[in-house]
Amino acid sequence: MSEVPAFEDIRYDRPASRVARITLARPEKHNAQGLRMLYEINDALDIAMDDDEVNVVVIASEGKNFSSGHDLSDRVKIGELRPTVLGFGGYRHKGPQGHMSREQEVYLGFCWRWRNLPKPIIVAVQGKAIAGGLMLIWPFDLIIASDDAEFSDPVVAFGMNGHEFFVHAFEIGHRRAKQMLFTGEPIGAEEARTLGMVSEVVPRAELESRTLAIAEKIASRPAIGLKTAKMSVNQSMDAMGLWNAVQSAFNLHQFGHANN
Ligand code: ZN
Repeated sequence: MSEVPAFEDIRYDRPASRVARITLARPEKHNAQGLRMLYEINDALDIAMDDDEVNVVVIASEGKNFSSGHDLSDRVKIGELRPTVLGFGGYRHKGPQGHMSREQEVYLGFCWRWRNLPKPIIVAVQGKAIAGGLMLIWPFDLIIASDDAEFSDPVVAFGMNGHEFFVHAFEIGHRRAKQMLFTGEPIGAEEARTLGMVSEVVPRAELESRTLAIAEKIASRPAIGLKTAKMSVNQSMDAMGLWNAVQSAFNLHQFGHANN
């Protein structure tokens, strides 16, 4: 196993054979994502991908809610904690130029990078996942939700189109996506399952055990089969225009920020 650094906003462990787990560990902040958490998630995923003893990754969270989205109180500047990863440049410019670069790096760039990682990644969701909280769910492969899980993206209230990884129509269908965005109201776990966005709904007390059971079952299968199956489904989504659609919405998202 690769050397695991001392993370602050997440935990990394190996809860079962061939399974790695990343746990969001800021429950007192409802797992709001500051820059440090996003870089730590990215680092932890790299460790899991590079570890030949890991076939499947689980992403879980501590506390009542999965994630309240971006940490709006975060004052860390990009490049302050560690070198940037994706190299868009212009991060220190004031105004829309610097803002777009920041979001290209830690929001859209990370989401797209994570979405294309080769190993199956399962997310366990309880409580609320709001706006940027969906950014830590939708890039991944299976979503196990506890029956109290709720998914929302209410940022139309702030003159924005939606959070930065705009796959809403692919996840829940175009009409439901519009209703979710226009009203800002959440979608519950059971409805999300019927829409095909959530893989399974389980009682809160069984979320961890059921997620690990699915992870272990998948992890027992050949890595190369898992990798090529994942790539094939992802490429099917790309053939339907997912990446082009995400980038178009990201451009409008940047317009929204500039307009504000
Ligand atoms: Zn944004």
